[in-house]
Amino acid sequence: MINEIYLDNSATTQCFPETAELVSRILTEEYGNPSSMHHKGVEAERRLTQAKETLADILKVSGRNLYFTSCGTESDNLAIAGCARANQRAGKHLITTVIEHPAVIETMHALEEEGFEVTYLPVDSDGVVSPETVAGALRDDTILVSIMHTNNEIGSLQPIAEIGRLIKERNPKILFHVDAVQGFGKAQIYPKRMKIDLLSASGHKIHAPKGVGLLYVADGVKIRPTLPGGGQQGGMRSGTENVAGAAAMAFSAKRLYDHLEEDVDRLYALRARLIEQLQGLDGVRVNGKPGRESAPHVISLSVQGVRAEVLLHALEDRGVYVSAGSACSSNRPHLSETLKAIGTPKELLDATIRLSLSVLNTEEEIDTAAAALLEIIPFLRKYTRH
Ligand code: PLP
Repeated sequence: MINEIYLDNSATTQCFPETAELVSRILTEEYGNPSSMHHKGVEAERRLTQAKETLADILKVSGRNLYFTSCGTESDNLAIAGCARANQRAGKHLITTVIEHPAVIETMHALEEEGFEVTYLPVDSDGVVSPETVAGALRDDTILVSIMHTNNEIGSLQPIAEIGRLIKERNPKILFHVDAVQGFGKAQIYPKRMKIDLLSASGHKIHAPKGVGLLYVADGVKIRPTLPGGGQQGGMRSGTENVAGAAAMAFSAKRLYDHLEEDVDRLYALRARLIEQLQGLDGVRVNGKPGRESAPHVISLSVQGVRAEVLLHALEDRGVYVSAGSACSSNRPHLSETLKAIGTPKELLDATIRLSLSVLNTEEEIDTAAAALLEIIPFLRKYTRH
């Protein structure tokens, strides 16, 4: 069997083996329902509380402001739709950007059908929205601004703290939601310092299993729950809690944040190492800002004259897994709104691949992937150019 080199970590990550062991132990031994009043229930409840405390420590918030959901998508939905519906008396205007994940964009579209008005802000050619653009879009009837921390397709980083400051200067009542699904685990994110009222994260992007998400809700923020039911988690999110998933997310997050600085340095070095090796190739463009001005784990490459899907499969034949544009929205072929928004020429829209790294990747893997690209790209071009 050929060695697998997994460079699709923005789509999902491998669960840390220790995290998977913890999941197995909870599912087979500590399987109680946290709502049960007997010992098994109390044990499960304790796990949940512990998980919230661990994640709260990382975000420097209180555990009582954290809620577990089923995924990043649900956290985004609950934050945006829940807030919009609960606060519509104050206004019906919402603001976001054109490069958000479908979990945000589609929620905004659904709210437009309910009578909300949404402003979709443009980004610059590096995929960054300027704080002044956000400030200029604020209105008296604006109730919520939703801006992602790290873009999933090109790794652009948004000036979250600056945007938070400008929003609150204009009107402290305007709520600020941040989709941190790609940023959590790769950057220090402090909701209070950054004036964030709502923050979404997802377990499977940080080496925990699929099926668990996190939502931070600041004190005093009104949300209308999207899942009516048994009233778990203070009524914010009904449904029996995924205790194993929650504990796993906390465990993996702690492991990442215990070594964050050195891991991030290593990711940036791996990213630079790969880009450096591609320098000799003509017609390959790295999207987004250079170096530490972009996320440490995302490399978006537009490759003139080669279809992304063909390149993806040619890499796959050598055991290198990447994605075409963004894989985490769906497998329907579509032209990326993010790539369009940064002004990618039409012929490069379906010629863009994304390589995304994790702390589990090694220099050898990067070198092998780079060598594969250096060989495959000229080869494929030879057969498409005639
Ligand atoms: N937001 C961003 C920026 C993402 O990259 C993703 C997933 O790819 C999501 C939201 C959705 O997260 P989940 O897959 O946990 O639903």
